[in-house]
Amino acid sequence: NEYLCVSSENRVLVNRIEFRNVTFRYPGTKRDVLKNLNLVIESGKHYALVGANGSGKTTITKLLTGLYEEFEGDILINNISIKMYSQEELKSMFAVVYQDFAKYEISLKDNITLGNVNGYSTQRFQESIEESGLIELVQELPRGIDSYIGRIIKDSLDLSGGQWQRIAMARTLVSNASLRILDEPTAALDPVSESRLYENFEKINHGKTTLLISHRLASTKLADVIYVIEDGAVSEHGNFNELMTKNGSYAEMFHSQRRWYENEN
Ligand code: ADP
Repeated sequence: NEYLCVSSENRVLVNRIEFRNVTFRYPGTKRDVLKNLNLVIESGKHYALVGANGSGKTTITKLLTGLYEEFEGDILINNISIKMYSQEELKSMFAVVYQDFAKYEISLKDNITLGNVNGYSTQRFQESIEESGLIELVQELPRGIDSYIGRIIKDSLDLSGGQWQRIAMARTLVSNASLRILDEPTAALDPVSESRLYENFEKINHGKTTLLISHRLASTKLADVIYVIEDGAVSEHGNFNELMTKNGSYAEMFHSQRRWYENEN
């Protein structure tokens, strides 16, 4: 039952998340990074966070995953304060890929499954490999999914940035966590691979709840709701068409990015 709140093994299914007037500064600093921030995430929809570097996007995901507890305002998960959940429960809710996700010096298989507290099936693992576009790599590797990758271990294989990104994607896909969070998942991909990955991501995450943080606004077109973060607060929200019609800061960023990409090419 997708709407059951807590399953037998501490796995919490998330129906709704709300940031209500959240204000936050990092411990030992004097500047508020989030300022009276409000946003809602509902199950089954796709969300995007966009905004300038340092506007607070990653900080939102850090608070959401329980990394910091000293904030003002409320973060509600299923209408209950985040502070009421254990770390185990919080871990079960989110599958997160950060920009600087760890490149563990272990086998390909462990890279994809490590830290997954909810368990997974062999079939799910296989699907994740296929959906993230790793099949060719697995076939090329001398020992398939048991091959060691990374630089530290002698004779292990070093992968390209794009391949690491696909592994990161597979990590979220293998997880049955309620919310899949991708923080700049395609930073290391070329534009063609990037759009293919997003199309794929959209397809395989149909009906799932996702939160995508991206600098490349073209990738946020598919989101049900885009939150524009400016200086620690939500300045605009809506889907792509609504924000383009509004002709505010999202539209401005979108146009200037398009010009930049056109000039690059
Ligand atoms: P974004 O993801 O939008 O680029 P972040 O949420 O990473 O922005 O950062 C927001 C602000 O918080 C930035 O000014 C950043 O320098 C600051 N910040 C991020 N992490 C820390 C930290 N661990 N300690 C102190 N300040 C931090």
